[in-house]
Amino acid sequence: MTTGKVTTGQVTTGQVNHGQMNIELTETERARILAKSALFDPPSATTADGRRDLVGLSREQLAAEMVAIGEKPFRAKQIWHWIYHQGETDFARMSTIAKPMQETLAEKFIVGRPVAAEVQTSIDETRKFLFRFRDGQEAETVYIPDRQEDRGAVCISSQVGCTLSCRFCHTGTQTLVRNLGPAEIVGQFMAARDSYGEWPSPHGETPRLLSTIVLMGMGEPLYNYANVAQAMRIVMDNEGIGLSRRRITLSTSGVVPMMDRVGEELGVNLAVSLHAVRDDLRDEIVPLNRKYPIKEVLAACRRYPGASNSRRITFEYIMLRGLNDSEADAHELVRLIAGMPAKVNLIPFNPWPGSAYEPSTPAQIDRFAKIVMDAGFSSPVRQPRGRDILAACGQLRTESQRNRA
Ligand code: SAH
Ligand code: SF4
Repeated sequence: MTTGKVTTGQVTTGQVNHGQMNIELTETERARILAKSALFDPPSATTADGRRDLVGLSREQLAAEMVAIGEKPFRAKQIWHWIYHQGETDFARMSTIAKPMQETLAEKFIVGRPVAAEVQTSIDETRKFLFRFRDGQEAETVYIPDRQEDRGAVCISSQVGCTLSCRFCHTGTQTLVRNLGPAEIVGQFMAARDSYGEWPSPHGETPRLLSTIVLMGMGEPLYNYANVAQAMRIVMDNEGIGLSRRRITLSTSGVVPMMDRVGEELGVNLAVSLHAVRDDLRDEIVPLNRKYPIKEVLAACRRYPGASNSRRITFEYIMLRGLNDSEADAHELVRLIAGMPAKVNLIPFNPWPGSAYEPSTPAQIDRFAKIVMDAGFSSPVRQPRGRDILAACGQLRTESQRNRA
């Protein structure tokens, strides 16, 4: 690892050139984040009867599995198509594969799905899934249909629980149980599609019900980057689900060292949970701010690769009555993001059992939105969806607890 030569001693004695120190510290920080997340690894992809789940493997890994059972690597292409384009889970129905091979595949592998332990549909048609994974842990996924057209967003979880404890967030009251693996992340989307019967993958401009992915469910996706990245690569693969990177938005509470990587490696849209314009308030409501303050978060946004006027960075701003919703706050927000290709999504606070805040009044939200809009930034108010079934932003939580065994 390239970080071995950097020690905390070097940093505190300040003997290293400052520019370089920053870069190397970032590397150290990255390594630390990766090492920490290893403690929360998802369970093995092998079932109790010894079969391996093919979902969640990269194309290369899938080819390696084929070679391991004495098949040609090109089989991976065929199987990929069945799994991610056709949505097939039964090898016996993979009609381009000869029967003996279908049988071998069924002996060695499965095409898994998380189990929908509970499905609730809101009066506004939003549907929330409680998915149970192989080890019994659970996470929630929400499908939010567009009100006018036959399309909609799938809000996907990246972790069971969250290490961060943003004050306004229900997930934040559940400690991190574990990271979700690629199969579990892509599996949420696939199982949601099963529920709407949307296989095979619609091609090109054909309308799709499940048309976008927002990584805005439970957890901080940038504290589970490797698994999220592998899942998103699968989702974006053109010979399968084929969602373009423009249809995927990753939301982060501001894990600065990982933000550059997302832009470089995945190129998906970035949403940043800003929520406050002063460090003292953000320190309190988004505690990660103590580590990566507003200035650093915004600098990472300014250098986010691929951001442009046609692909703006979304700032999420929760509207908490009397706390962060004044006109002065709106003006300061505009000052902070001046010159950035950005839009601001105003999210009225969604209450949950035991929460301590009130949403801002509609009149105050309008005043705030107008200031932001007059400064040239689009500032839509995110209409709460699925509040009746606790499916709206920040309301997700499961009963899963850390397995101490
Ligand atoms: N961990 C990531 C993504 C999940 S949260 C993040 O924090 O960005 C998705 C969005 O919902 C974030 O902007 C989050 O701040 C917001 N949110 C959390 N709790 C909320 C609540 N009670 N009401 C409204 N939005 C909330
Ligand atoms: Fe975690 Fe995001 Fe909730 Fe904060 S808002 S506790 S980062 S899920």
